[in-house]
Amino acid sequence: MVEWVRECRAPRVLVPTMGALHEGHLSLCRAARDRAGEAGVVVATIFVNPTQFGPNEDLDAYPRQLAADLAACEAVGVDVVFAPQAGDVYASDASVSISEATLALGLCGGSRPGHFDGVCTVVAKLFNLTQPVAAVFGEKDYQQLAVIRRMVRDLNFPIEIVPGPTVREADGLAMSSRNAYLTPSQRQAAPGIQQAMVALREEIAAGKYEDSPSTAVEALEGRLEQVAGSESRVDYVALVHPDTLQPLESFWEDGELRYRLIVAVFVGKTRLIDNIGAN
Ligand code: AMP
Repeated sequence: MVEWVRECRAPRVLVPTMGALHEGHLSLCRAARDRAGEAGVVVATIFVNPTQFGPNEDLDAYPRQLAADLAACEAVGVDVVFAPQAGDVYASDASVSISEATLALGLCGGSRPGHFDGVCTVVAKLFNLTQPVAAVFGEKDYQQLAVIRRMVRDLNFPIEIVPGPTVREADGLAMSSRNAYLTPSQRQAAPGIQQAMVALREEIAAGKYEDSPSTAVEALEGRLEQVAGSESRVDYVALVHPDTLQPLESFWEDGELRYRLIVAVFVGKTRLIDNIGAN
């Protein structure tokens, strides 16, 4: 990759992924293709990054399907796929990492200590290796997008961060490589997460919670606990400011509804995340 980048005169647009590609990833590849234009090159990376997994998480079980992923990349106009092994990217005695100290603390960072250090570190490595002009990240991982934007700002990476909207299954479930872990009955119940979020958004707009985000959070927690009967367990529900990710004090800003609703719910052993905006 280093040698190729040295020779490559064309501007590169990067799409970092962990593989097991689905329509969500492919939509980012298409956005990268658009951003790169005819003169540019789209680089997708496929790397199940060990440093962003906690000790009891699904690193070993994470789906890996490189041949199918390569075919999918080719079909959406990706020019180059970089799929390194951990040993190609990390020295065995690596001792430098990147830590974002504000946005990464709560939400998924609270439930998954060290997760965003792993994300920032690997994304910085991929930026250095591929030296892109732009990189595309999905809003599905809303906190990740915010943390990466902050890293790019604070470390002066000369890279434009392009967000891509969350792609959903026909029944509303946010696409995720982890959906493959769900049993048929869990899969049937899982769209209830997004349905409950959208219902809450409508209730907020109708004034049901007046201006009390904490009451709305409690209501949604109760509903999400039920989403897959005894198989569901809420990890967190948060109503936050869309930029700072701080807990919301009011639904309203400058006369407009403005917030991000972010949830993580275990369905069986599978941890699913989703988020929506105020409109
Ligand atoms: P992952 O392979 O899960 O690390 O995701 C790689 C990239 O794809 C990240 O920028 C994710 O936010 C994005 N992504 C994952 N799922 C979706 C989805 N359903 N819609 C849009 N982007 C997604």
